[in-house]
Amino acid sequence: MNILIENWQKTLSDIAEAEKAAGRAQGSTRLLAVSKTFPAEDIAALYQAGQKAFGENRVQELESKTAVLDPGIEWHLIGHLQSNKCAKAVKNAHWIHSADSVKLIDTLEKAASLQEKKLNILLELHLSGEESKEGIRDEAALLACGERLMQSAHLNWKGFMTMAAFGADEYTLRKTFSALREKRDEMEKRFGLALPELSMGMSGDYPYAIMEGATMVRVGTAIFGRR
Ligand SMILES: *Cc1c(COP(=O)(O)O)cnc(C)c1O
Repeated sequence: MNILIENWQKTLSDIAEAEKAAGRAQGSTRLLAVSKTFPAEDIAALYQAGQKAFGENRVQELESKTAVLDPGIEWHLIGHLQSNKCAKAVKNAHWIHSADSVKLIDTLEKAASLQEKKLNILLELHLSGEESKEGIRDEAALLACGERLMQSAHLNWKGFMTMAAFGADEYTLRKTFSALREKRDEMEKRFGLALPELSMGMSGDYPYAIMEGATMVRVGTAIFGRR
């Protein structure tokens, strides 16, 4: 069998195992196949095999892939987004995982309104303490972003995303993932809104993310191989 399909099936069965170990319902975690840097043919092959949702981290690359691939694919933009790329992001993505400022939310809302599109949005939180990572760092900024999303008619606020420190130990990883879940619980109460989605976990740490309640794991390397 094709190595790509084999890796994908192994990832799905590892996810099912982690759900079982965590006492969670089978199928409660969705797999996003992170296809950045890999060719459209790989995405087409996985889509044919049954993988519906793909993640890209650059708007330009997302755009070039949506142009040639099946319109049935569900696209998730997971990388840092700049305001000047929002129109293209809105045009090509169904989900944006990396909203992290009021300015960006405003720009996304305007673009979505102009294009008469509705978009699913996650707020990215910076919880790992790693300097290089993007995301919202303080409570005041988080509340301001939440309030702005509540007023944005074309943006469906669905939950939160985070990235854990690369190569950290189990304790540290789980602390980051549980912090995202706890912040979500707090914001659901604060805004009186269901925020069910937790996008957390990558190739190196997704079983721990599932134990802490991830509803979407973003897996690249374990499926496509090294970039
Ligand atoms: C690349 C990327 C991933 C996937 O990382 P792997 O370690 O290859 O699984 C997940 N999330 C984001 C935001 C990424 O940029």
